[in-house]
Amino acid sequence: MTERKIDIVEETARKWLADRGVTIDHIADLVYYLQVKYYPDLEIEQCKENIEKVLSKREVQNAILTGIQLDILAEKGLLEEPLQDMLMRDEGLYGVDEIIALSIVNVYGSIGFTNYGYIDKQKPGVLEQLNKKSSNTCHTFLDDIVGAIAAAASSRLAHSAANVNVD
Ligand code: MG
Repeated sequence: MTERKIDIVEETARKWLADRGVTIDHIADLVYYLQVKYYPDLEIEQCKENIEKVLSKREVQNAILTGIQLDILAEKGLLEEPLQDMLMRDEGLYGVDEIIALSIVNVYGSIGFTNYGYIDKQKPGVLEQLNKKSSNTCHTFLDDIVGAIAAAASSRLAHSAANVNVD
């Protein structure tokens, strides 16, 4: 199998996720959490393979870069008010974080949407850590992005298991 070439956009998106403390293992645990009830023989390795496919999509990389950039600018105090304060407080009615995440959720069909809503409410694993509020960190976008990657990977896994063509 030939090695797929990773360009600067994908490389940076992957690096920023890691820099913000989110690993493929963290996301794989979320996919496992979402899917093991449907596939009792599910292995973590399958979860990781599906995450890799999700991360290879340009619209996913774009959402990661945009969301994490806004989190970082908020942490540095570089946004204008009132946006600066809304992002640092993770203001409940802001909602644009969820909208950016939607561009990830549906890359493998609309069942990703259901998975996303569920995991966003349950907040297992790394999502719980990202939601702990602190005065000097901002993960307003990151938590939704990570949940959305897990939801899309779960959706791809379900399509593959049903032998539906996925790429
Ligand atoms: Mg959020």
